[in-house]
Order: sequence, then C-alpha cells, then structure tokens
Amino acid sequence: MTLVGGDTGERHALSVDEVVASVASSLDRGLSVDEVARRTLRFGPNVLPARAGPGWPRRLLGQFHNPLIYVLIVAGTITAGLAEYVDSAVIFAVVVLNAAIGFVQESKAGSALESLRSMARTPARVVRDGEVHSLSSEDVVPGDLVRLEAGDKVPADLRLVHTIGLEVDESTLTGESEPSAKGTAAVPPSTLLADRSNMGYSGTLVTAGTGTGLTVATASDTELGGIHRLVGSARPLATPLTAKLAEFGRILTFAILGLAAVTFGVGLLRGQDTVETFVAAVALAVGAIPEGLPAAVTITLAIGVSRMARHGAVIRQLPAVETLGSTTVICSDKTGTLTQNQMTVRALWTIDGEVVVTGSGYEPVGDLTEDGDLVSVDHNDALRWSLLTGAVCNDASLREIDDEWTIVGDPTEAAMIVAAIKADIDTPSFLDGHPRSGSIPFSSDRQFMATLHRSSSDEHGFALVKGAVERVSDMSETMMDSEGRLRQIDRHRISEAAEDLAGRGLRVLATARTTAGAAVDFTVDGLPGTLVFTGLEAMMDPPREAATSAVQACRSAGISVKMITGDHAVTATVIAQQVGLLDRGDADGSVLTGSDLSSLSADDYPDAVDRAVVFARASPEQKLQLVESLQSRGHVVAMTGDGVNDAPALRRANIGVAMGHSGTEVAKDAADVVLTEDDFSTIEAAVEEGRGVFDNLTKFIAWTLPTNLAEGLVILVAIVFGTALPILPTQILWINMTTAVALGLMLAFEPKEPGIMSRLPRRPDEPLLTRALMVRILLVSTVLVVGAWAIFEWEQSRGAGLDEARTVALNMFVAAEIAYLFSCRSLTRSAWQLGLFTNRWIVVGVLTQTAGQIALTYLPAMNALFGTAPIGIDSWLLIGAVAVVLSLVVGIDKRVHNRRTFATRGR
Ligand code: ATP
Repeated sequence: MTLVGGDTGERHALSVDEVVASVASSLDRGLSVDEVARRTLRFGPNVLPARAGPGWPRRLLGQFHNPLIYVLIVAGTITAGLAEYVDSAVIFAVVVLNAAIGFVQESKAGSALESLRSMARTPARVVRDGEVHSLSSEDVVPGDLVRLEAGDKVPADLRLVHTIGLEVDESTLTGESEPSAKGTAAVPPSTLLADRSNMGYSGTLVTAGTGTGLTVATASDTELGGIHRLVGSARPLATPLTAKLAEFGRILTFAILGLAAVTFGVGLLRGQDTVETFVAAVALAVGAIPEGLPAAVTITLAIGVSRMARHGAVIRQLPAVETLGSTTVICSDKTGTLTQNQMTVRALWTIDGEVVVTGSGYEPVGDLTEDGDLVSVDHNDALRWSLLTGAVCNDASLREIDDEWTIVGDPTEAAMIVAAIKADIDTPSFLDGHPRSGSIPFSSDRQFMATLHRSSSDEHGFALVKGAVERVSDMSETMMDSEGRLRQIDRHRISEAAEDLAGRGLRVLATARTTAGAAVDFTVDGLPGTLVFTGLEAMMDPPREAATSAVQACRSAGISVKMITGDHAVTATVIAQQVGLLDRGDADGSVLTGSDLSSLSADDYPDAVDRAVVFARASPEQKLQLVESLQSRGHVVAMTGDGVNDAPALRRANIGVAMGHSGTEVAKDAADVVLTEDDFSTIEAAVEEGRGVFDNLTKFIAWTLPTNLAEGLVILVAIVFGTALPILPTQILWINMTTAVALGLMLAFEPKEPGIMSRLPRRPDEPLLTRALMVRILLVSTVLVVGAWAIFEWEQSRGAGLDEARTVALNMFVAAEIAYLFSCRSLTRSAWQLGLFTNRWIVVGVLTQTAGQIALTYLPAMNALFGTAPIGIDSWLLIGAVAVVLSLVVGIDKRVHNRRTFATRGR
C-alpha cells in the first residue's frame, strides 16, 4: 500500500482511480472502522500542534521592555553607585516584582484565551463503512472520504473525486479573495497551489456547491500545517481600549518623568542634598506612574472572556468584550436562536383539505387524522407525494440511540422525515427504484431545494422540490389533487392556507414535483414553469423559554431587539409576539418583509429600519444593508447569522455572532462571538458581562489614578517647599507595589452590579476619563495629600519622632486606599448598599494588606529596611478617622453626581 500521509506529493496530477488506490480507500464505502483505528494510531489526530508563541524566557524579558522599568533600573543603579543600598535594593525588588506579576498575569490570561479558541472545533462529515458520520475534524485520517457542502471548513487536504458547483474560498492559503471553482480532473504536476482545481485544502472555506474528497494529508502534513510552522506566533492580547490605555500610559509616563526632572532641578537649586533629592524624584516618578494599569486591563478582559464562555459565548475577537457592553441594537435570527429549532410537523395541507399530524418530537410515532378520523395516504395522491417529497428531497437523517431519537442535519428536514414515517411512506424502497441523480441544495437566497430522481425505466426522471411557499407556488403551473389529477394552480388559495397555518405560529414549507416522462432542465432557472404543486407541511418550533426574559432584559437595558428571519412574515410575527418582541397592538411598520425593504426609498429606509422590529423573508444581502443603515444612525449593532452569505453582515456588524450548532464554518470564521448553544439569552448575558467588564475597568482607573497622583504630589510638595518628606521614597515604593496587587487588582473580580441592565448603553465615543471621574480623582487626591501632610505635622507637633510620624502618614495612606477601594466597588452606590463582603477577593486583599502594614510597623527588620517605627493606638484612631473622612467625601460626591446624572437623563 502506497499510503500517503508524509506529503500530499502530486496527488493533483493523479486520476481519481490512482488516488483511490494510493490512499487504499473506496469511493462507495470509504474506510472501514478497523482501518480507521489502524490509521489513527499511525497518523495521530488531525490537529495542528499548539502555536509556538515566544518561549517563556522571551516573554519574561519582554516584561522589562517598558520605559518605567528602564527608569527604575537606571535609578536603582545610580542609587547603588551613591551607596544608598537599601533604596537601591528596594527599587530592584520593585523591578523584579513588577516583571514577575506581569509575566504570571499575562501567561494566565493568554492560556485562558488560547484554550477558549481551541474549543471551536470544525465538524466533518465522513463516509465510513458506507455510512455518513458527523465527526470532529480531529478524527479524520488519510484515506477518509469527506463530504463537503457550502458553509463547511475543509477538514483536511482532500483530492476531490466528485463535485457539483463546488467553490472554495482559499484566501487563507493563497491570498486570492475570489472563490476558486473546483472539479475533479487531474492537472499537470507543476500546477501552482492556487490553480490545483481538484484539491480542497484544510482550513479553506466552501462557499458554494457540494463535493466529496479523499483525504490525502492530515495535521501538520497539510498545506495549512506547513504555513502554521512558518508563522507560529500567538495573537496579541490587544483591543482598541488596551491600545488607548497603553498610549495614555506612555504619555503619562513621560509627563511624570518630566515633572520628576523639574522637581529634581528645583531641589538642587534650593541647595538640597543631591542624593536625597534624586532618590525623592525617583520616588515621585515611581509613585505617580500607574504600573498596575496594563495588568489590570488584561486581567479584567480575560475574566470577562471566561465569564462569557461560562454563559456559552465564545469570544473569538477580544475587542468584542468591550464592544458588547455598548451594544444598542441586537439583530437576531429566529429559528434556533429565539426558537428551539425542535421541529415537529403538526399539519399537512393539500388542495382537498387539512390533515392533523399527532405525536411530538422526533420519535416517529403518531398518526394522520382529519376531524378525528385516521387518514391513509393510499387514497390521497397529493398528500402522498407531498410527504414523500418532504422525506426524499432531504439531506437529514434520523437515528435511534439508546431509546432516544436524534437527528443529523437540518431539523426542518428531519421533521419532514418523521412526518413521512408516521404516514407509513416507504422512502427506502422509493429511493431503491428511483435513486437520486442530482440535487440543488437549499440556500436562504434560493429558498428551495430540489433533487432529481431517475429509474431504469424513466430516462428523464423527475425532480422533487420543497421550499418557501411563495417561491414554490410561483414556480408551479399546476397543482395535484387527491386523485392525482392536475388542475390549474390556485395561488390565492395556497397563500390563504399558508397564512392560516402561519397565523398559528407554524413554519410552512411547500412541496412540488415535475411531471414524469418529460425532460427536466435540472437547473435553478430550468425548474420554474414545470412544477406541479403537491401540498404544504406546517411545523411547530416552540420559542425558547429563556428568550422572553432575555428580550425583556434587553429592552430595559435600552437595547432594541430586532428579528431578522428568512421565514414567512406571519409566522415571524406570531413568534415575535410569543417572545415579547412585538405587542399585539404594535403600529404599522413594525413588520417589514424583504420586498417591503426593496421598495423603500433611500430617504425613508433608515427611519423605517430603525422603527421596525421584525424583518421577514429577508435575504442575506438585505441583512448587510440593515446593519449599515442602523450603524449610520449611530447604533452599535450585534448581528447573528449562520449561513455562508451571512458572513459579510457578520463582518460588518460591530459584533458578529455566529451559531455554534447550526452555524456554518464560514459564518463562525467571520464572527467575533460564537454561541455554543445558539441561544438568544446568551447574547443578552454576554452584553451584561461586557458592561461588567467596562465597569470594572473604570473602577480600577478610578481607584488607581488618585492614589498615584497623591503619592507623586506628597513628594512634589515636600521637595518644592524643601521640608522633610512625610513619606520616604522606599515607603512610596512599598505602598505602590503592595496596594496595586493586594487591593487594586481585586476590583477585576468585582461581580456585576445589580441593575447593570437597567441603565442605558454606554456611548461608544464616551471617553474613559469622564468629567465626573476627573472630579472624583482630584477630590480623592486632595484628601490624601492634605491628610498625609496634616497627620505628619500633627504627629510631630505632639512629640513623635520623624520615623514614627512617617509611619503614621504611610499607614494613613494605605488605610485611605482601603476605604476608597470599598467606595470604588461601585461608581454610584455606596459600599454599604453593595454589602461589604460580596467580593471575597477584596476581603482577602484587605486582610493581606493589613497584615503587611502591621509587619511594616512593628517588625524590627522591616523598621530597619523601610525606616518605619511602631506607633500607638491613638495614631491608629487618627488614621481610621482620615479613612472615614475620605469615605464620606466620596459618598457625597457619588450622591451629587447621581442626582445630576438622573436630572440630565430624566429617568
Ligand atoms: P432564520 O433566518 O430566522 O434562521 P429561517 O430558518 O426560517 O429563519 P431560512 O433558513 O432562510 O430562514 O429559510 C427561509 C425559508 O426557506 C423557510 O421559511 C422555509 O420555507 C424554507 N426552507 C427552510 N429550510 C429549508 C430546507 N431545508 N429546504 C427547503 N426549504 C427550506
């Protein structure tokens, strides 16, 4: 056996038969299960090795690549040169600690994101032992016969052996943006990769048609594997916000360095000791620069990503975490997202009347009844053909596993198979006599599916068609009655019957066939005019239970929810009412169909779209226009989609949301978020988490900036006035490093505030530092600076030594930061309203910090190192008093601010 695997060699130059022989497989049955087991052992799983990002030494070194660290290293070295060994040691300790924290946090956040990304596996349909199996791409082995259809991601390198209109987007490999048409004919050995029209390469996307290919290479042996080895770099953890903050941090760093230099100059001019002034200037710089900011942003985002994953929303693009929080419109699919996508045919309609179908779910147990009497299809030709068409013009299948009936494929189609079994239609024997010789797959654009069947006695064969009612009825010339006679089509009656069924919230499909014995032009354009309408199948798809409350939550959060569906307007309206999107008395214009949209003038379009709630029979192109129109009115749009043609709208939307179950790989590839359960309530939950992430970032900024500012100012004032420093440089370093980790970072774990979904969405252009936040920052830093100085002077005036007075000032600073931390847990509520212990991380952080302060104050070794001294209980009381004052000041500011906000918003 000349089994390939090592390389794809020149498979494109071989004929189909030669390829079959070279991979020792079969075009009818694929591989046998035993053979698959052998090959799995030999070739391993079909996965690419984890991307080799930079190794840990490089990532660790990267932590030192930061202007602040450069400053610290220079300062530490000079301080050592000046024989200030303790200060120098503390500075280097800060450098090392900072790098270590950054390294650990970055690795944690990175691996959390990486594992989420790998959750998104590609499914593959593979023929083994003559049966089609749905597998994960990981399980595909060389020799496997793989089925492809529009929307799939090619799971391995394939030599194509059968294609119908197959087109593949190979831009990931070749850079060519137009999809390439595929066939099966051999091409010369020297053909370039982009022109090998008989190959399907792993990781590329099928944009049209269907095909079958034999796997010739898997895992790293694929062309994609080759590229993967070459590129091998991990994705950066950057979002617009992190980029903005990094820029903000850089400007701040340089501004503070400038200020430190000026302060140093002033100190020298005033004739102060050079060494002391230099060390103080370094302390100013280190104190004022918010070192914790980048780590806090990354951690907050990473926590947001994993919280969203817990709800079933896998984030593919990190910026989505931020954008989700400012979403103003969610455009959702109906089927599967707002409804359960659990279809059961409930009613059948032919020109001679309606028949009820009993039973529920996919278990094929039930009957056909009319006015309570059993109905047999043997006496009703139209009904028999309608049910047969539904079951045969169909790519789904039904299986019973452990007494549970499960389906493979589209639930709409599976429901039609179940209905046919309930009616005792013998589909297998029909297919034995009339095998399928061609098919036109269903697409949302086309709105129908057709299959061609030939028997040995009928060389022309006939086509069976099922699809949207209007489409099929337009394509039909005649209709069949129960006796099998053809009558002139009555489109009005058909549409009335369909509307009646749709009005009960049922999803309606029509069936038709061509007449036997006549030649069929089996193309999309060849079918109209040749069809005989046979009947309607109406199925129930109950709304998801969680959808109603999620829609309600979105509404009270100021987010408007719109339904965009390919389904009939009446069915869509009923479902929209059931989930609370529409009220029964809603004004005209709240339901628009695709044709309403096309007839709107460019001037009326944006307004009408903004007002409407349900868009029915909307095509994927119209989805794109809807997104663009809503965005032009300043909306931040989240849009769901599952088909190949939805990809442009998903890319265009601010948040593209693809369905994990029913979505095609093309849609997932274009999306920012993939919903593992296809459930609308997940989007609402993700928006809520997005708001939480943004809140926590703002809280961290609100906490860190005033403390940094105050630390810098305390030193600045001392140098400028030439007085003794109330807090020593080494002490500033202690405060800064310990509080950032033990206190500030804990805000990233803050749970979402109650009522987070009862306020309006954040304006996307709203700056991070709002006026209210700036006022808060100035207020808090003023209290900290004044408090530190006052306490320092007061302690000295009552006879405390310098070390003791400094220790009191230092502890006051930390106590005030702790008090302020509790205030920062909510930007609007008071700490009491939130409950003091609702974030256990904060409790742990505060206890750790307090232990550190006690050690710093009372341990002789720490006293020697940091120039501190034990202090008495009365000093602690004083410290507590300043902390209380700060809490009160912030509390008042919150009240005043809230009153102003509510007054301007009028809510
Ligand atoms: P949504 O866009 O909310 O998921 P949908 O699933 O109804 O809604 P499409 O899949 O675009 O939207 O279907 C549009 C119409 O095409 C349906 O109303 C139905 O009449 C018809 N249809 C759906 N699935 C099939 C199918 N597999 N074969 C033939 N016709 C179908």
